[in-house]
Amino acid sequence: MTFCYRLLILCSIVTSTLGLVYTSPQSALAQTSVTGCPTPALERFQRHKVAPRETVESIAQRYNLTPATIIAMNPSLQNGKVVVGREIQIPPYNGIVVEVPSGQTWRQIAAKYKIRPDVLFDVNGCQKNPRVVFVPEVKRSPNRPITEAPTPTPSLSKLTGYPLAEVATVALPYGWQTNPTNGQVFFHSGMDLLAAKGTPVQAIGEGTVVFASEQGTYGNLVIINHSGGLQSRYAHLDSIKVSVGQQVKKGDTVGSVGTTGTPTINQPHLHFEVRSSSSLGWTAQDPKGYLQR
Ligand SMILES: [Zn+2]
Repeated sequence: MTFCYRLLILCSIVTSTLGLVYTSPQSALAQTSVTGCPTPALERFQRHKVAPRETVESIAQRYNLTPATIIAMNPSLQNGKVVVGREIQIPPYNGIVVEVPSGQTWRQIAAKYKIRPDVLFDVNGCQKNPRVVFVPEVKRSPNRPITEAPTPTPSLSKLTGYPLAEVATVALPYGWQTNPTNGQVFFHSGMDLLAAKGTPVQAIGEGTVVFASEQGTYGNLVIINHSGGLQSRYAHLDSIKVSVGQQVKKGDTVGSVGTTGTPTINQPHLHFEVRSSSSLGWTAQDPKGYLQR
């Protein structure tokens, strides 16, 4: 079903670039997901039927987008004129749709458009090898590349705690890192805290478990949503002690340290993340500011 729908959206984008009229069924698309990843941006396009007296500008304003984005998604509007009754594509946020050239990866697309790779990965639903990606336009100051994701309002950040009973050595901090084995630069979306396999992992604050299962490179993963639009993630767990929907308090055991998934370093550690809700989904933040014992 997901695959079919994804194809449908791609088809509609491709056909619209050919100037053909194609109508896909409107679907109520949830932005939340059960995998810890947002629904891919390409699956969150809406269709808008142009009403009398509407203009590209008024439609853009209605959806909080720029006219340039609306025109980019709808080549039939290149002359700047809308046709009453015609359906146009409305993306979830400003950006462009880019086909990944053969032999290239989405990481190279991220580098080309100077967007944080983890943001591009999330926006596109954590797909491993997407052929077409949605590249969101991240707000930037003049003459500065787009490298920063939206940051939360500091007043919202009341979450502070520590995911282990003892303060641990940080084996790999958050941010741009160089992989010691192959020299490749990558973005580390969390912090690696060294701890022996089996060490209990604790919730850093009160919240609701929204994910508790195996998830690709994360291995066994627990995700907790906290108030204030914040989320904490605990990855590579050996065991999971909570289930989805469960309310947890600060200090509650959510699982134990393990080596599941694809850890970046070999020693057993907890990969810990803090994310904040933004227009682009759950965006990784430096966990340092939230860690306190
Ligand atoms: Zn890590």
